[in-house]
Amino acid sequence: MKEFDSLEAIRQELQDGSFTCIQLVEHYLTNIQQQAHLNAFLETYAQEALERARLVDQKIAENRAGKLAGMVVGIKDVLCYENHPLQCSSKILEGFESQFTATAIQRLLAEDAIIIGRQNCDEFAMGSSNENSAYGVVRNAANSDYVPGGSSGGSAVAVQANMCLVSLGTDTGGSVRQPAAFCGVVGLKPSYGRISRYGLAAYASSFDCIGIFGKNVEDVALVLEVIAGPDEFDSTVSNQPVPAYAQSLQFDKKVKVAYLKETLESEGLNEEVKSATEAKLQALRQQGHTVEAVDFPLLEYILPTYYILTTAEASSNLARYDGVRYGFRSSSSEDLLQMYTQTRTEGFGTEVKRRIMLGTFVLSASYYDAYYTKAQQVRRLIKDATDQLFQEYDFIVLPTTPNTAFKIGTHNDNLVQMYLEDLFTVQANVVGIPAISIPNGEASNGLPIGLQVMAATYNEENLLSFSRYLLEN
Ligand code: GLN
Repeated sequence: MKEFDSLEAIRQELQDGSFTCIQLVEHYLTNIQQQAHLNAFLETYAQEALERARLVDQKIAENRAGKLAGMVVGIKDVLCYENHPLQCSSKILEGFESQFTATAIQRLLAEDAIIIGRQNCDEFAMGSSNENSAYGVVRNAANSDYVPGGSSGGSAVAVQANMCLVSLGTDTGGSVRQPAAFCGVVGLKPSYGRISRYGLAAYASSFDCIGIFGKNVEDVALVLEVIAGPDEFDSTVSNQPVPAYAQSLQFDKKVKVAYLKETLESEGLNEEVKSATEAKLQALRQQGHTVEAVDFPLLEYILPTYYILTTAEASSNLARYDGVRYGFRSSSSEDLLQMYTQTRTEGFGTEVKRRIMLGTFVLSASYYDAYYTKAQQVRRLIKDATDQLFQEYDFIVLPTTPNTAFKIGTHNDNLVQMYLEDLFTVQANVVGIPAISIPNGEASNGLPIGLQVMAATYNEENLLSFSRYLLEN
């Protein structure tokens, strides 16, 4: 079977009877098996996916199929799916099964999407390379010596290597956009509160967003339209009406685009990434759009703000994994306190422990004001300055990442280098605005380059139509 690049192409052929949903699922399962060395999936749900495919085939024949019939989806291992294992790629959740289904997944299923399996990621979504999984590194399908990015690396590779059409990942500081850039696919992080977080295992609750990977903007828009919107189980989700994103992708206006001077002048920016971004900006100018450089001196404070606040939230969120209620419990303890300590010592990986300790430190009585309170104040300044830019500009365009994918193992001794990979993506999470990464060519080593576009809060509609325009022009 050939590979498909869009739901539309799949639907066409399903409708024509060229193949069935069952054959489609079998095809993806074969691709997963044949590329098992990439380690993108922790587990496939082969039997039930085939069973659902049979039902969807029936519905298509009877003309009563949902919007997502023919869409085969993979889910990052931080999203709950009732009676299915959930591990957050961590040993501490060994043996744990979800007792309910995330709202986003529930809504996918209601529109006849097929869930094919659970995808590898950095432990508790902490990382930028997918080297922090307790279940092994994920490899980039463009070159398997290279990382796919993280933390949703498995989800990005699954779309890149045709193991499913779409993946749901999560983006707390770039975990959808950065791997999308490294793998050459589209990755959307919507506004904070656009998609319910119910059933998403929390890392940093005031930053966490469910995001979408696809091969094109249309599929991503369609999935967003299905899963976004109010949910009684998440009080932080917005009541703003959800537009029919997939129907509003026409783009025929002239827009004002800003780029942040500090991003293109930043020291660590790879030359090829820089020139690919500049070429795109130049093309926009030639097409009659306004493109202007703006100063954003706060850029250097965004990453420290992000790491102070997310580690603080993580230390609180991850306190629940104590060996009593979830998954793994150490067998080498003699009393309750030791059981807690041993379980957490043995169950969590190095990066997760580092962040819990950092977070506990910034929240401790003597340092709370110096770090946590200060970072909250700076977050506000960054938000105000960013919102201000959107008073004048429609979009901010910048590289998704300073570099293309790096070789597996090369950043492990240099954490600052690893954290710097998130330099351009964290702003959208600190502020809560929507942002997307779209493919923007390849570097001379054959690895994909990503272009990022940010828009004002709840402006996904324009963000998506502009991204589609950028991809096509
Ligand atoms: N790489 C960032 C981090 O390690 C972002 C993670 C994410 O978005 N989940 O925190």
